[in-house]
Amino acid sequence: MSNQAWVTLATNDSYGLGALVLAHSLRRVGSAYPAVVLITPSVTEAMRERLRALFAEVVVVNVLDSQDATHLALLQRPELGITFTKIHCWNLTQYEKGVFLDADTLVVQNCDELFEREELSAAPDVGWPDCFNSGVFVFKPSAETFSNLITFASERGSFDGGDQGLLNSYFSDWAHGDIKKHLPFLYNVTSAAFYSYLPALKHFGQNLKIIHFIGAVKPWLQQFNWASRSVEAPEHLRDFLQLWWDLFVAQVHAQLDTNMDNIEDD
Ligand code: UDP
Ligand code: MN
Repeated sequence: MSNQAWVTLATNDSYGLGALVLAHSLRRVGSAYPAVVLITPSVTEAMRERLRALFAEVVVVNVLDSQDATHLALLQRPELGITFTKIHCWNLTQYEKGVFLDADTLVVQNCDELFEREELSAAPDVGWPDCFNSGVFVFKPSAETFSNLITFASERGSFDGGDQGLLNSYFSDWAHGDIKKHLPFLYNVTSAAFYSYLPALKHFGQNLKIIHFIGAVKPWLQQFNWASRSVEAPEHLRDFLQLWWDLFVAQVHAQLDTNMDNIEDD
């Protein structure tokens, strides 16, 4: 068993679809590393079955039932529910290193070289480039780091109410420290770049490694025309969303028993 793994998270079946497509994208580019998905009890059994078929491990995390420290921190900071779930990746101590990928990312080209980086490596956020975007990051599982993150979160909260604010405060030397921990933007191209600097996207786009569909434009929420097999989306996003849907149609949909309409976004 490999001691390094990709890790993603799904707390419901919608994000579960994202995780499935993400895992297929890793297969498509021939990644040598296994993928692990963290889920919460709200993920349905039907979805778990799909995830188990594709992921090396499906790990159920129930923040309320885990450690006392987590429980207490959660009570103090109920708004950080999903954030606490994400930092559970530090508990995957059966691995020496992990690369976390949001379930709304898509790996376009092989990027196994990410495992050569150290904690905490991540790409700049387009909104505030002195912060890293927490949709893609290299980390080192450690019970101690997990517990420090929980303590930090319960004492200080998160300046943006989510995991990105928390992780940027905790790993605050990222902005000014070791430049090797700055991943090229190509490893986490967020959809905001699609319209904010289009010439750069056109110039560098062929080297794009990972797309990240941040914000409200989640691929699985787009209108899809089944007759033409094309996604209906704003032009600047269409090619990237089409990639996601091509993979979904070819690899995931064909094997789903459940109708898409039954999958609720909760
Ligand atoms: N997530 C989840 N359920 C939710 C919201 C988020 O499982 O209801 C997970 C999922 O892996 C997602 C990540 O947390 O990709 C971060 O949330 P999101 O991608 O929606 O935030 P954004 O990247 O748009 O800021
Ligand atoms: Mn995301």
